[in-house]
Amino acid sequence: MNKTIDKYEATIGLEIHVQLGTKSKMFCRCDNNSDTAKPNTNVCPVCMGYPGTLPVINGQTIDWGIKTALALGCSINPMQRFDRKNYFYPDLPKGYQISQFFYPVGEKGNLVVDYLGTDRKTKHEFTVGITRLHLEEDAGKLVHTSDATLVDLNRCGTPLAEIVTEPDIKSPEEARAFMQELQCLVRLLGVSSADMEKGHLRVDANVSVRPIGQPTLGAKVEVKNMNSFKFMEQALKFEIVRQTEMLERGEKIEQETRGWDEKTNSTVSQRSKEGSVDYRYFPEPDLPPITINDEQIEKWNRSLILPSVLRERAEQKGLAYDRVVELQDKDKLVLFLGVLHSRGGLNPTQVANWIEKFNDEEKLIEFMDVVGKHNLSTTAAKKYLETGKIPETMDDAVLREMVGQVLDENPEVVAKFKAGDVKVSAYLMGQVIKKSGGGAEPALVQQILIDLLT
Ligand code: ADP
Ligand code: ZN
Ligand code: MG
Repeated sequence: MNKTIDKYEATIGLEIHVQLGTKSKMFCRCDNNSDTAKPNTNVCPVCMGYPGTLPVINGQTIDWGIKTALALGCSINPMQRFDRKNYFYPDLPKGYQISQFFYPVGEKGNLVVDYLGTDRKTKHEFTVGITRLHLEEDAGKLVHTSDATLVDLNRCGTPLAEIVTEPDIKSPEEARAFMQELQCLVRLLGVSSADMEKGHLRVDANVSVRPIGQPTLGAKVEVKNMNSFKFMEQALKFEIVRQTEMLERGEKIEQETRGWDEKTNSTVSQRSKEGSVDYRYFPEPDLPPITINDEQIEKWNRSLILPSVLRERAEQKGLAYDRVVELQDKDKLVLFLGVLHSRGGLNPTQVANWIEKFNDEEKLIEFMDVVGKHNLSTTAAKKYLETGKIPETMDDAVLREMVGQVLDENPEVVAKFKAGDVKVSAYLMGQVIKKSGGGAEPALVQQILIDLLT
């Protein structure tokens, strides 16, 4: 298998839904944060699709859609207009979804993604073309019980940004890195919490395999139902192996939709290539088109905060790439840059070492100042963090005396050590640190112990 896999290459393109975290829904005034509300309590005649009601655009959804599209390097359509996508489904009471088909918010962008290789050191970089970003309203949810299927309309009218990528992604690892970058990006923009587990970030992955050198792409399989980065990566790995094996056996891959099954760790066919549905798109007659001017776009463009820019700045400050990534994963990059910006002369690696204990810029700076001023060792700084008191620093002579005392008090242990049981030095070390009230630096104690015992 592993040999033959070298003859093939995978191609992946993603279709992503980002749930926008606006206060109210997209076309009515219902609360947009109703994850925990009882079914069908967060609804109104507009989002339930009563005849005769009229939608009103929530301007924030357009702002945020444009900001996100700009952050993905898209060209923005100067006219924002909605279209009706007509289909019947029990969770869609209107019989159509308000979406954007003819004029998406933005088109033809790209996102440069870098990620840490499996050695946890090397930086890899690749670029993914963004086909389009458009806005649309979400539908409700079907809840299946043992004897019935129930409809919950709370989610109807929730704003979504749909992002479609070009088939530029080459591996499950890249797909994951792309999704993580996108998650970080929308969180920094403040447009979505982007939690996959909560369904605020959803992804359908299209994947195909072809023999290396074949000019056309293979038939794609779309995989759905992956609610974590881990599952997406697993599903793609599984699919690539499955398709490669089929090609090896000379079988033909048919276009189909498959779902990820967490129980069997495999993808399962859901439906094979449906004759493409005709959604009879037409411009939404109940909503006016909105014109966006260049000045507005310029303003948005200038105010963008991008994860890649933050990472670059952190590296320029002198932090190693693996540490930069670690800070980003913990949502601490902004704090890190804030601290280094406000207080010159701090050691970036030191700041990164302590940042986990702080959420507040001022407090972290204060702490770093005390550590610097008193030249505190790591142990002493920890102590200070716990107690708020600056521990006495041990000078070498005092520490030597203390080690000597501990050796005198523990003749049997010393004897064991001298007989070759070097592990017991850990016990002695512990005794010294205890005696010092935690103020002694372990590395120094070890040095002195070795000196005195050998
Ligand atoms: P459809 O017409 O089925 O919606 P699209 O061409 O619009 O297909 O593409 C949908 C998604 O599938 C995009 O993200 C695109 O990058 C990806 N895609 C298209 N063709 C392939 C392929 N052969 N292999 C992998 N991904 C593909
Ligand atoms: Zn409503
Ligand atoms: Mg399509």
